[in-house]
Amino acid sequence: AFWLALASVAGVGVWMQLRSRGTSRGQRQATQLKSIADAAETPLVVIPSLSRITGCTIVGKMEMLSVGGSSKDRLARAVIEQAERDHLITPHQGHIIVEGTVGSTGISLATIANAKGYKALIIMPDDQAQEKYELLTQLGATIEKVRPVSIADPNHFVRVAERRAKEINKSGERNSDGNPIRAFFVNQFETPVNFETHFTQTGPEIYSQLQQVGIKNLDSFVMGAGTGGTLAGVSMFLKSKMQDLRVVLADPEGSGLFNKVKSNIMYSPTEAEGTRKRHQVDTIVEGIGINRVTHNFQTALKQPNLISNAVKVTDREAVEMSRFILRNDGLFCGSSTAVHLVAAYREAKQLGPGHTVLTFLCDSGTRHLTKFWNDKYIKKAGLEPKSSGADVDFL
Ligand code: PMP
Repeated sequence: AFWLALASVAGVGVWMQLRSRGTSRGQRQATQLKSIADAAETPLVVIPSLSRITGCTIVGKMEMLSVGGSSKDRLARAVIEQAERDHLITPHQGHIIVEGTVGSTGISLATIANAKGYKALIIMPDDQAQEKYELLTQLGATIEKVRPVSIADPNHFVRVAERRAKEINKSGERNSDGNPIRAFFVNQFETPVNFETHFTQTGPEIYSQLQQVGIKNLDSFVMGAGTGGTLAGVSMFLKSKMQDLRVVLADPEGSGLFNKVKSNIMYSPTEAEGTRKRHQVDTIVEGIGINRVTHNFQTALKQPNLISNAVKVTDREAVEMSRFILRNDGLFCGSSTAVHLVAAYREAKQLGPGHTVLTFLCDSGTRHLTKFWNDKYIKKAGLEPKSSGADVDFL
């Protein structure tokens, strides 16, 4: 009995020692782990097929691996944190994040809102891929759909969002603690927090990742613009490090930015946007392309010699490229990524072999299964891919 007791005491001792060591090690490790409300870094990958064909190194920033499925997570975290610092919203008080978006920003806001203790009210045009609405519903967001109309129309999604936030703030509605419910209008198109986040976070992240893999110099950065925040912030940071960097706008069919870059028209917030007309069915490319110059895009446009060129990409080229990249590289990409890859390919061809071109892989094809990656939809739009898949003969 004595030996048994001793063994069990020793056993408990050893177990306790192991347990306490395990716990402290676990805690030490845990302090280095980030929650989904903080985690941001995404990897860089090479696109083998386009690199082989052009003789260049075509690099993609895998934003589609971010927790909310796109680079809009960065914006969502930053605007919410800024609003907290400005004492506009507080977690777990029933406060509401309100935004007008074509989807990705709403999904990121709803994701980060859940992680941080807020509600989300998302105003969206009704012509976007169905999975975005379904995803937002599952994320607990309240969705209000509006017709896709010009920004001059008071029913444009951005203007409705701004109005809803004001209405909530005026309503005097109270939470269960008796405190007034506050709403915060994100305003991604106009808020400087957007490009600043890409200048202070995304740009430096890309630069240090390039250094880590031994890419000392980038020849071109190719990017589309929804709000223009990514293009402005990332370009301005990378250009500060690599003076000879070319910045190329990738612009989808129906967007007016191509002409604006070419003629460098200055900011006009009241300029009528006009509804984007592309095909008999709704628009194909989601997330990039716009007909007004937002404050975020203007920030890039007014930097002397920042944007070197603009490349126009048709819906057909985007569809063909997405299927080509899937077959050759195994990358299942969304529509804006396909536009980026067409423009990156053109830029690499223009530069000639030996150059390095970086672009953004914004979101995955899984978010586009009912439109861009739907055979019936594509057929109806007259955009069935025709290429052999062996080469980029469609370009
Ligand atoms: N495409 C997709 C799918 C996006 O989610 C985004 C936003 N990250 C963009 C393009 C363009 O970004 P921005 O609003 O910064 O111009």
